[in-house]
Amino acid sequence: MKKILIANWKANPATLEEARRLFEIENKENVIICPPAIYIAELRPNGAQDVFWKAGAHTGQLSPEMLAQFGVTHILVGHSERRAIGETDEQINKKLKAALSVGLTPILLIGEPEKGPARTDYLIDQLTRDLEGVSTEDAKKILFCYEPVWAIGNQASTPEYAKKAIHEMHGILEKIYHLPITIYQFLYGGSTNAENIESFLKNSEISGAVVGGASLRPEEFKKMIDITAKL
Ligand code: PEP
Repeated sequence: MKKILIANWKANPATLEEARRLFEIENKENVIICPPAIYIAELRPNGAQDVFWKAGAHTGQLSPEMLAQFGVTHILVGHSERRAIGETDEQINKKLKAALSVGLTPILLIGEPEKGPARTDYLIDQLTRDLEGVSTEDAKKILFCYEPVWAIGNQASTPEYAKKAIHEMHGILEKIYHLPITIYQFLYGGSTNAENIESFLKNSEISGAVVGGASLRPEEFKKMIDITAKL
């Protein structure tokens, strides 16, 4: 299976003109681009950074159907920057279910805040709560991303460390769903760049990467797309 890159632009760039330029360079096969919501109607990207679980009386929110009508197929759910401003596992669970109910693919981001032995407990806790009531069939459609918070915008984890965490997550999913691990797809996120992307993606356990900072550097991201396409 082809490896994928998810470009998470976060609250960047500042203008639509810059967003158009960046989009033109990055809009390639096997790249999911998640721009700020305000640019979605104009750019028609395949990704979005967030979703709400309902339409109606919910000021400031966007429903999955609204995003889907503009061609969005993938949605980041549970990013640590959203968890940090108060998004709860219960809300993440609702977002997951809402995205799945209209056929969108959620990219569920899971990871511990600090490096250390508490990692396993975090992974168990987040996965169990976020997947509460998600059916076996739906779980197969989720793209799981191991994204240690300490590695975001900082220093990447090592591929070995990421593989260990993914292995643990496989074990947790197996306990919940009793499915073989080959069913699930796992991504890695956290300070990937043109230098280190190959070391992560050459591993069969890692199907792609969520990329923040480097996705805003067109030259560098272009290199990452080329490297990824060859794997
Ligand atoms: C992210 O925030 O999802 C991310 C991976 O960011 P960065 O690549 O900048 O660490």
